[in-house]
Amino acid sequence: MAAEVIDGKAFAEGLRGRIAEAVPAFVEASGRKPGLAVVLVGSDPASQIYVNSKHKATVAVGMESYEHRLAEDTSQDDLLALIGQLNRDDSVDGILVQLPLPPQIDEKSVLAAIDPGKDVDGFHVINAGKLAVGEAAMVPCTPLGSLMLLKDRLGDLSGLEAVVIGRSNIVGKPMAQLLLQENCTVTIAHSRTRDLTAVVRRGDIVVAAVGRAQMVKGDWLKPGAVVIDVGINRIPADEGKTRLVGDVDFASAMAVAGAITPVPGGIGPMTIAVLLRNTLVAAHARAGLPPPAGL
Ligand code: NAD
Repeated sequence: MAAEVIDGKAFAEGLRGRIAEAVPAFVEASGRKPGLAVVLVGSDPASQIYVNSKHKATVAVGMESYEHRLAEDTSQDDLLALIGQLNRDDSVDGILVQLPLPPQIDEKSVLAAIDPGKDVDGFHVINAGKLAVGEAAMVPCTPLGSLMLLKDRLGDLSGLEAVVIGRSNIVGKPMAQLLLQENCTVTIAHSRTRDLTAVVRRGDIVVAAVGRAQMVKGDWLKPGAVVIDVGINRIPADEGKTRLVGDVDFASAMAVAGAITPVPGGIGPMTIAVLLRNTLVAAHARAGLPPPAGL
């Protein structure tokens, strides 16, 4: 039987709808809109597309969007000065610095300068540490969106074998922490893992966050596994065009998995929806209000 295709786009639309419904109550209680500041340094075309879609999505749910587009040769001191200003600005609840940054800027220093309470990407070491010890934290958007889809599909994840392929700070590691908090038995596989195929076959849940087009094949999977494909890879297509594929070979996985997220239309749309969710949650915390329900 073919796997169920998990419609991340539809789930993300639902989440954005619930956020839009929750914003007026925040405005009423606090007298202002929640605000998200996005900082883009340079003119990387992919980053420009991401920043544009974040702006549109933020405005569409009734929040304030503040865009800061800085020149490619911006110095680290100037960027840190802007972050300091955004940290102090009461109308800004969330600060996102679009990565990657140009080579003259040290990414770690920039992420460390963001007020952890406004760190809606969840990349600050304070938030990573809180997540690791199980305290309330700002959680990175892509893994949190992946977890939402898994819980929607599977309900209770307790006791399931989860295999996360990839150990980056922005996807693999926080994903593994979240699955551990859900009482999964978690294995993190990476570039040095021996016999990756055998490791992946243990997974009732498989999360692929590698950045290698169609690497995970259907015959690596345990029959019925739920597969979250985080990868976004551009490969050549017909007539000199290109197309997006994930880290999982979708066609062969469809024949073995129980459910799978497609690329595009799976995890990608969840990432922006969760960014808006994190911004609204940060706004409530900063205004001393209880967290918004149902998000
Ligand atoms: P990364 O390059 O930081 O990390 C990749 C990880 O894969 C590393 O930990 C590495 O050990 C592991 N790896 C590399 N080759 C491997 C192999 N042959 N076998 C097993 N593991 C291997 O990447 P990232 O930032 O975590 O992103 C991973 C993918 O997810 C990329 O395709 C990226 O574009 C995508 N991504 C998507 C979203 C989204 O919104 N959907 C968000 C973030 C990242």
